[in-house]
Amino acid sequence: MKTKAQKKSAIAVKDLILDQKKGTLNAYGERFLLIPVKLIHSIEDRLTESLGSVTATSFEYEIGREGGSKFIQLAQKAGLGIKTAQEIQRVADVLGTMSGWGKIDVVDFDFSKKSTRIRWKNGVSVRNRTGKTHVCHFGRGILTGAVAAILRSSCESIEVSCQGKGDKFCEAIIGEPREINRLADTIR
Ligand SMILES: [Zn+2]
Repeated sequence: MKTKAQKKSAIAVKDLILDQKKGTLNAYGERFLLIPVKLIHSIEDRLTESLGSVTATSFEYEIGREGGSKFIQLAQKAGLGIKTAQEIQRVADVLGTMSGWGKIDVVDFDFSKKSTRIRWKNGVSVRNRTGKTHVCHFGRGILTGAVAAILRSSCESIEVSCQGKGDKFCEAIIGEPREINRLADTIR
């Protein structure tokens, strides 16, 4: 017998519809794809081998950013609000946590300062916990693109904590490019 808590923590995404005839999977009026996380790792490895780690990192981040704004369009199609921190947490629950991206928590979402802090655990790019640098370039990109779409302004981000280098969780600060650059300088 599973406990109530176990049942609650293992739920299926109920909005997915599989059309067996077409071989398509749809949710919120868009086509989805169930892919192994290892495919993400293959893409990361291939980019690093071909381009070097600095360029690969920036590619992953930029690809993520474009995807992130699409996630917000998707959220709006699904009828989710994006006007309050609570609504944004709900978006993170449905399209992040419940879609297998890791456990995502919106720690702070300051609309007036255009600054946000998002924490996640078990991100798809974390393979081991002994690296020297943060690894979640793709995921951080997605979050940055999503926040930029919510705030309707350009955003940059910095990952200040990462499970890939042994931290307890991953955390990114996302905000106005000028502020993020300033912050990056103080951390370096
Ligand atoms: Zn990370």
